[in-house]
Amino acid sequence: MVKNHCLAKSINDVAWSLFRRTLEYFAGKFNTTVVAVNPRMTSQKCSDYGAIVKKSLSTRTHKCNCGCDLQRDVNAAINILNLALM
Ligand SMILES: [Zn+2]
Repeated sequence: MVKNHCLAKSINDVAWSLFRRTLEYFAGKFNTTVVAVNPRMTSQKCSDYGAIVKKSLSTRTHKCNCGCDLQRDVNAAINILNLALM
């Protein structure tokens, strides 16, 4: 059903909503917190310097002029963590 363009967004929205509710439920159960972060530009932004380094989806490394050289997902994860801690 996700291949049906008309239903795909609704199905994905429900799946993410259920995932988020599940995380919030278990966070409450184990006395911790869940912070939702907008993932926009987290893979393009340098986690060290904050500069935007444009890259295609097939580029798997983040290399910035500041000397930062990380695996793309590690760079994004650091940016997401920093947003959550703000
Ligand atoms: Zn940088």
